[in-house]
Amino acid sequence: MRAVKVVQQYYTAEPEILCMLEQFRQMLNDCVRIGLSENVTSLKSLSKKAYHQLATYQVMSYYKLCAISKASGILRNYRKAVRKNPKTKEPYARRRQLITCYGFKIRTTDKMLLLPFKPKQPLSVMLNAHVIRILSEPNIQVRSVTLTDERVSICYAKEVEPIQPRGLIAIDRNLDNLTLADSDGRIMREDLTRATLVKARYREIRSHMRRNDQRIHQQVSGKYGRKQSEKVKQILHHASKQIVMDAKRREFGLVMEKLTDIRKLYRKGNWQGRGYRGRMNSWSYYELQRQIEYKAHWEGIPVTYVNPNGTSVKCSICGSRMKPEENRTLRCRSCGFTVDRDVNAARNILARALRFGAVASAAEAMVQEPQRTGNLESRCRRVNKIGEST
Ligand SMILES: [Zn+2]
Repeated sequence: MRAVKVVQQYYTAEPEILCMLEQFRQMLNDCVRIGLSENVTSLKSLSKKAYHQLATYQVMSYYKLCAISKASGILRNYRKAVRKNPKTKEPYARRRQLITCYGFKIRTTDKMLLLPFKPKQPLSVMLNAHVIRILSEPNIQVRSVTLTDERVSICYAKEVEPIQPRGLIAIDRNLDNLTLADSDGRIMREDLTRATLVKARYREIRSHMRRNDQRIHQQVSGKYGRKQSEKVKQILHHASKQIVMDAKRREFGLVMEKLTDIRKLYRKGNWQGRGYRGRMNSWSYYELQRQIEYKAHWEGIPVTYVNPNGTSVKCSICGSRMKPEENRTLRCRSCGFTVDRDVNAARNILARALRFGAVASAAEAMVQEPQRTGNLESRCRRVNKIGEST
C-alpha cells in the first residue's frame, strides 16, 4: 500500500519562475478549454487532442504533459460536479501555479530544488532544513512538486505494510470535541473548544467590517479567513496526531462515520437561527477526517467508515430511541440507561463497526444494516460488554 504526504514551505519566486507559472496556468486553461469543446476527459484522448496545440508555448515538454494530466483531473472533477449540480461553472484557473512530476531534482548537498528550464540551465529554489530533513528520511520517494507564487509543496510517498489491528477505536466527531470509544472499553475525549472559540472570534471580527466596498470586503475577509483556518488547522493537527499515535501504539484500527451533505442541514429556511447556522457551518468535520486518514495511512493503520444513521439517537445498550435530557445527556426509554450523548454515539459507531467484522472496507461498511432478527441477543450481549466495562 502506498501512503502519500506533502511538505510545504514559503519561498520568494524569481521572475523566470513566475513567468513559468503563468505559462503553465495558460496551458492548463487551454487544455481545459480543448477538453470541454472536444468533450474528452481521459488522459490519453486529451493528450492526443491537446499536445500539438500547445506547440506555441516555449516550455519544455515535461510541463506540457503535466498540464494535460492536471487538466484531465480538473475535467474529471468538473464532470462529477455537473452530474450533481448542472449549474456548475466551467473550470478556469486564475491563480498562477505549476505542477510537475518529471525532470526535477532535489540536491541535498546545497538544499536546492532544481527545475528544468532550458537545456543544462535549471532554475533553482532554495529549500529549508525542515523540508530537506523530511525528504532525506529512508524509504521515501519524491513524487511531484507544486509551485505557486509564494509556496512550494513537495509530495512524497512510501510503501507501508498495513497492520493487522487488534481492536478498534471509534471516533465521534462533534463541534466542540472528539469522543473516542475503543474495543477495550476505554472512553477518551479530545477537546476542540479552542477551535470553536477561534472561529467565533474571527466571525465577530468580520461582522464589524463597515466599509461598503465589495473588493475591500473580499480582501479583508479573505485575510482573516486564512488566519482563522491556519489557527484551526493547528489545533486539529494536534488532536489528529494524538489519536493516530495512540492507535499506532496499541495497534488499533480507526472507525468514523461517513458524514456527507452536512452543510445541507444548516441552510437558510431550515428554521434555525443565524448564529447557530454560522456555528454549525464552520464545523471542520472534513478537515479532521482528512488529517486522521492520511496520518493513519502513513502508519499503516486501517481507517473504516460506517453509516451514520441514528448513531446519535439510538441507545448503545438496547437500540431503542433515546430521549434528550439536560447537559447533553440522553436517557433510554426502555432500559433507563442515562449517558452522555457523545459517548453514546461513539459506542454506537464502535458497535456498528464490530458487527461488520474488525476490518471492513469503506464500501462494505456502507451497506445497509442487517435486519434485527435471529441473533439479536448475542449482538446485544456484545454491545453490553462494551457498555459495562466502562
Ligand atoms: Zn436502552
